[in-house]
Amino acid sequence: TPVAELPGVGRARAGKLRRLGVLTVTDLLRYGPMRYETEAAEAGVQGLPTDGKTAGAVRGVIVACRWVPSMGFGKKGRFEATLKDADGFTLSLTWFNAGYLRDRLHPAMTLRVRGKAKMFAGYPQMANPKWEVLDEAQAGGGVDEASDRLRPVYAATEGLASSAIERLIDGVLPWALPQVVDPLPATLVKHHEMPALADAVRMLHRPATADEHRAARRRLAFNELLLLQLGIAVRRAEVEQRCVAPALRHSDAIDRHIRERFPFELTPTQSAAVAEIASDLSRDRPMNRMLQGDVGAGKTVVALYAMLMAVADRRQGALMAPTELLAEQHHASITRMLEGSNVRVALLTGQQRDGLDAVTDGSADLVVGTHALLSASVAFKDLAVVVIDEQHRFGVMQRARLRQPTEGENNGRERVPHTLVMTATPIPRSLSLTLLGDLDHTTLTGKPPGRSPIENRVVPPEKADEVYGYLRKRVARGEQAYVVVPTIETSGGEKKLESVQAIAKRLSEKHLAGFRVATVHGRLKRETRQRTMERFRRGEVDVLVATTVIEVGVDVPNATVMVIENAERFGLAQLHQLRGRVGRASSGGRSLCVFIAEPTTDDAAERMAAIAKTNDGFKIAEADLAIRGMGEILGTRQSGLPPMRHAAIPGDTDLLRQAQRDAKAIVAADPTLDRKEHRTLRRVLLRQYGAALGLGDVG
Ligand code: ADP
Ligand code: MG
Repeated sequence: TPVAELPGVGRARAGKLRRLGVLTVTDLLRYGPMRYETEAAEAGVQGLPTDGKTAGAVRGVIVACRWVPSMGFGKKGRFEATLKDADGFTLSLTWFNAGYLRDRLHPAMTLRVRGKAKMFAGYPQMANPKWEVLDEAQAGGGVDEASDRLRPVYAATEGLASSAIERLIDGVLPWALPQVVDPLPATLVKHHEMPALADAVRMLHRPATADEHRAARRRLAFNELLLLQLGIAVRRAEVEQRCVAPALRHSDAIDRHIRERFPFELTPTQSAAVAEIASDLSRDRPMNRMLQGDVGAGKTVVALYAMLMAVADRRQGALMAPTELLAEQHHASITRMLEGSNVRVALLTGQQRDGLDAVTDGSADLVVGTHALLSASVAFKDLAVVVIDEQHRFGVMQRARLRQPTEGENNGRERVPHTLVMTATPIPRSLSLTLLGDLDHTTLTGKPPGRSPIENRVVPPEKADEVYGYLRKRVARGEQAYVVVPTIETSGGEKKLESVQAIAKRLSEKHLAGFRVATVHGRLKRETRQRTMERFRRGEVDVLVATTVIEVGVDVPNATVMVIENAERFGLAQLHQLRGRVGRASSGGRSLCVFIAEPTTDDAAERMAAIAKTNDGFKIAEADLAIRGMGEILGTRQSGLPPMRHAAIPGDTDLLRQAQRDAKAIVAADPTLDRKEHRTLRRVLLRQYGAALGLGDVG
């Protein structure tokens, strides 16, 4: 039922509700309070605490009221009223500078007032109490609130106060609650000693006790977690049942052959990752593995190993990067490593489409590209391994399905490639459970040999001159540097941000006079950008002023200093990624990252503190989770997943594990959720998660 059909909701109010995301009565039921206030139990005037510190509540009838203007001041003054309770005791009320009350409060009205009372000239008095007018039905009985009351506080919007939302919900609960259908099997709910869904909804809005609202929250959080885990489990079962991937040959000879291509020995953790992946690839169950590792951990060669296994089996491998720049760089470095071999590498991006034919006719063994690889016109000849680099968006991961002709079908099972996803940011363990269900994952620990830790400094803008002065010294010693700037154009707003061009110009005229300064940003033509990056890599440019196009993957070992302007504008994960561009020198020189920041919010200050405190990407990820919350990190909006309103990780990790166990058990017993007790569950699952998880075919 649309909320617009509720009594008391006209067009204006419906519009305000829409702003809160509330369109239907169901939305309204889901719109839980953001917190609860404890309201003191009502007492008679005699029972009211009068220490001036303890809040109390009294109900009574206004027997007199008046406006007392201050002398000589037009609008100032005070509104006074006398309230008489059921036992005939009176309480004086005073509101200062509240002239509007003249039109609101009149004798004979029944009020409930709350506030802190004091004795004044022998009589109790309350200053600026909260008040509400009780209608006749409410006014009828005597004192009806025998104990403290939890009052919900809803996130309000302009023109729609929490109390108005409270009244709307009061009107809806009596008829809507009996219609709430619980999707979870009753036995499961009972087993966990949780309230039924309708009870939980009531307890959410109108908890009688704090225990009730905790029980409600736990139940509703469990719902969210179970549905997500169930979605993942169903999808997984479906993929295993319907899809088949080519089992790739693997042998010591192949292993040796591939390793010979790399300019260095794999570290033990890289070797372990490679072994795990090779074993996945040699089976016909499609691999769906995530490779995590901090910036600079050396994920690329592991991915290349997987792709070369496809080539060794005379099939194709593809690498999808998040940006054009990164795709170009991967293409260049892979081509370099494979020089002198028979492996043919193609590049396919939005701008660079020359490789298309080679992909289709199979003459390209490896294809490196951007999202352009996902476009309908790209049909691989025989794709066996797909690597998705630097990805942290769930949706992309789930939906990324590269196309190939269906002729390879086996026994009605669809041929799909093995998939390896590499994360841009390590995912905290607690979060990866939610996100990935029991998706396989491999973690690269540590860094390749010879890395030096990065020194971090957070400095205010006033120190920028000093910073650039020091930068000049480092550059004079032959080191290279990045200067990162938030936006391309000079934009207005509370604070002017300088453009890449302007900063580059200023630096080359002042602090860096005599040194070679160049710029890169997303609006440059590919050739121009590529040329500049190549010059930087060759050491022909000393300082690169750039936007976040260099955020991921860019690898220039001699670049040892980074200055980030307006660092407070960047997210924590992004800062860590950016910083990962330095500290790559195997020469052992000390790398430095300077964050020029003027944090104006608590969040920003926390981000700056966290980035300065540690170089460990996993710790950064945990801090990011604490600051931003789970939904933001999952990128739920982009992924199309419904938001988590009640569940919070890491707080609900135990509940999550429980949900995971239950989801697995349910799917093991009933993979398509066909049983009668699972029907509602299936319907809700498809509606909420079907599109995002690609569950369209479950039914
Ligand atoms: P990331 O995990 O951030 O993608 P990369 O794969 O780009 O990291 O690797 C970072 C750098 O480390 C690259 O310059 C790469 O050549 C180098 N590297 C990777 N593995 C090793 C190794 N085993 N020994 C020495 N250097 C390595
Ligand atoms: Mg990388």
